[in-house]
Amino acid sequence: MKAGQLRIVFFLLVFSAAVQAQEPCATHLYSRAKLQTDAGQRLAINRAEEFIRQVQAAPGTNRLENGIIKIPVVFHNLYHTADQKITDAQVYAQLDMLNRAFRRRNADTVNTPAVFRPLAADCMIEFHLATSDPGRRYTNGIIRKYSPVLKWTMDDRMKKSAETGSDAWDPSKYLNIWVCNLEKFAGYSTLPGSDVSLDGIVLGLGALNPSYETIIHEAGHWLGLKHIWGDEYCGDDGVSDTPKQAAYTPGCPTTVRVTCGNGPAGDMYMNYMDFTAAACTNLFTHGQKQRMWASFAFGGPRHSLLESAGLDKPLIQESQPLDEGEPRWLEIRIFPNPVNSILYLDFSYDARWIGKRIYVTNVSGQQITSEVVTSKIHSLNVDKLRPGIYFLAANNDQGLSMRMKFVKL
Ligand SMILES: [Zn+2]
Repeated sequence: MKAGQLRIVFFLLVFSAAVQAQEPCATHLYSRAKLQTDAGQRLAINRAEEFIRQVQAAPGTNRLENGIIKIPVVFHNLYHTADQKITDAQVYAQLDMLNRAFRRRNADTVNTPAVFRPLAADCMIEFHLATSDPGRRYTNGIIRKYSPVLKWTMDDRMKKSAETGSDAWDPSKYLNIWVCNLEKFAGYSTLPGSDVSLDGIVLGLGALNPSYETIIHEAGHWLGLKHIWGDEYCGDDGVSDTPKQAAYTPGCPTTVRVTCGNGPAGDMYMNYMDFTAAACTNLFTHGQKQRMWASFAFGGPRHSLLESAGLDKPLIQESQPLDEGEPRWLEIRIFPNPVNSILYLDFSYDARWIGKRIYVTNVSGQQITSEVVTSKIHSLNVDKLRPGIYFLAANNDQGLSMRMKFVKL
């Protein structure tokens, strides 16, 4: 076969493997779609890319090299069922993992092959939970929000409160990380220069498994790193000290893999920007560090993060975490009202009420009857009630109570 044909066959192989198994990261697919469909985005992402390349090429102009970049982070956890709610401990573990990787403090750095060890870098970038929200109020940096959405896709709805997700905190000042039940992919990230309202990282719930390192890889993308194979056969990742390699590395190889004429050292499959199993990744290179730092240079797409007050002491202390209140779309609808015989209760947008007991009381507060909600549209027979005003009341496990009035004809 000719090289061109070989390449096509190779892509088909890689592609079919990718659709069958859960792919670890969808950033390249996500950004490719954006680049194809949105001319404004294409311009902005390409402009960011051009900026990064210029600063990379002139490292002397990078005045931020002495010191550590500290990035304020806010987690948005969208849950539908109780098991989709993440704990503070899980968030801390994710940040700890992230910081160990970016500061090259992992125990597994000893596994970096001798030939690549001189290239391995302490990236001097750290990620910390925000201590001040955009209004300089107290925050612990973790937002948890119920959503009627059971499964999320790569369409960014999780980033919009109006679509039952959670609005980003000013992405020029915070790294927003959404954790939700993402379908098919472990996670994806926007690239520097992306639409500001969508900027950030999305992680599926599976990505929080302590043996995965999705967050490290996606933070790399968010800071402008590309996949180490450049998303093409022997492609370019924009970094000079990562060897060219044919494609992503599945699993966890134990031997040198020579591709694209990169012998004798072979593929740097232990790089965080490969798809190698987490247990076998252990380095970012100096070139990658340079590329990430380039975004923070004056005029760069991530420069504004250096001016964030997100890690400062809050100006307004609140003893309670700020409660945004229950969104309107959670409202339970009852119909018809007034009612003759059957009153329908629509719980479509808030399944948390299913399995809970709902009480009917009269105006004097006396309980007339009660029933357990069994489905999203619950029908309540009120045929035998005398005409008058009644109330429906219930409490759910989340401490929410509901009270609604209806009129029996
Ligand atoms: Zn990726």
